[in-house]
Amino acid sequence: MDFDLTEDQRILQEAAREFAENELAPRAAASDAAEGFVREQIDLCKEMGFLGMAVSEAYGGSELGAVGTSLVLMEVNRCCASTGVTLSVHNSLTCESLMRFGSDEQKQRYLPKLAAGEWLGAYALSEAGSGSDAGSLVCKATKDGDDWVLDGTKLWISHGDQADLVVVFARTDADAGTKGITAFLVETSWDGYKPGKKEKKMGLRGSSTVELHLDHVRVPAGNVLGEVGRGFPLALSLLDTGRIGIASQAVGIAQACLEASIKYAREREQFGKPIGAFGAIQEKLADMATRVDAARLLTLRAASLKDQGKPHGREASMAKLFASRTANDAAKEAVQIHGGAGYTRDFPVERYFRDARVTEIYEGTTEIQRLVIARSLLAS
Ligand SMILES: Cc1cc2nc3c(=O)[nH]c(=O)nc-3n(C[C@H](O)[C@H](O)[C@H](O)COP(=O)(O)OP(=O)(O)OC[C@H]3O[C@@H](n4cnc5c(N)ncnc54)[C@H](O)[C@@H]3O)c2cc1C
Repeated sequence: MDFDLTEDQRILQEAAREFAENELAPRAAASDAAEGFVREQIDLCKEMGFLGMAVSEAYGGSELGAVGTSLVLMEVNRCCASTGVTLSVHNSLTCESLMRFGSDEQKQRYLPKLAAGEWLGAYALSEAGSGSDAGSLVCKATKDGDDWVLDGTKLWISHGDQADLVVVFARTDADAGTKGITAFLVETSWDGYKPGKKEKKMGLRGSSTVELHLDHVRVPAGNVLGEVGRGFPLALSLLDTGRIGIASQAVGIAQACLEASIKYAREREQFGKPIGAFGAIQEKLADMATRVDAARLLTLRAASLKDQGKPHGREASMAKLFASRTANDAAKEAVQIHGGAGYTRDFPVERYFRDARVTEIYEGTTEIQRLVIARSLLAS
């Protein structure tokens, strides 16, 4: 068993760290305060090849594999989680969906633009009435000649107002349950694609999350992704990859909490000594560091299994479950270690605390991860 990164992976990790520290960290607080969209950061990521991490070189991607992608996402999220979620959705959901389920023609048409970052990809599964129970979605696709016509409203769509291509899940058969769901590749310039209300969020304020109205969007039959009626298993298997992305995000945020806490514990003095001299603070740091390491190992294990072409659904859920809890525990303790200062916007731990929260909610809540893990245990 080998816990070491390869030389190439280590070089990638260092390059991503240097980039994130120099280009993303200085912009993160301002993007959060502005509550806009991290467009400038995404443009910078483009130059690093971070928009094509899941895409093979044949289509212009950087083909970093799941471990490589995870390492980059950890470093990006350590400095700016709003950039991190945008990269995760674009790479782990949109590009990955085309790589795995796209036809040759679809790959040729879309992947080079996505990999180069000329186009941004989004993923629209959730609706007002179907979050955890994604299989109950009602957004409708009606056959009209060779085309499909999409009608309905999606909710919570990450950068749905910024994207160029969206993987949209819609119901092609009202009576077939989860077998009546199909995935479509929808270009956002098409008539009837209308981003709606932008959510005012607790965290990830530099990323945009919007309602999406599909008002008679005409989609050619050639833009069905995978097979008609097979959209639900496609969505679930993509979420396995997406969960490695969110686990990586959580590890990055938790690592940032740990580093900020160590720095503050060394600098802040009370009772005539640095607060890091007190046992209570040392215990917090020790627990935090141990959990961050465990979360990183779980996440890289899931990524490594994916790279080896082995089943990794349970492991991805375990990584997401543990890493997202770790990020939230670490953020809570980081604020505590900073005392009153941690409750202000003068220190980044306040932002980490808000950003960490959603890692336990999206791409399957903590409760749903437990359900997935338990089901797989009981089935085996
Ligand atoms: C910032 C942000 C970005 C997002 N981006 C996207 C995106 O790009 N694309 C997209 O499609 N979606 C996106 N989502 C949606 C996200 O995936 C859902 O919010 C998530 O799946 C939970 O669904 P819900 O909010 O409807 O909660 P609900 O499903 O209503 O859950 C409410 C509570 O009930 C619990 N619960 C539900 N069912 C069970 C059960 N069977 N057993 C135990 N507990 C249960 C949940 O764990 C939770 O605690 C995003 C969400 C946020 C907040």
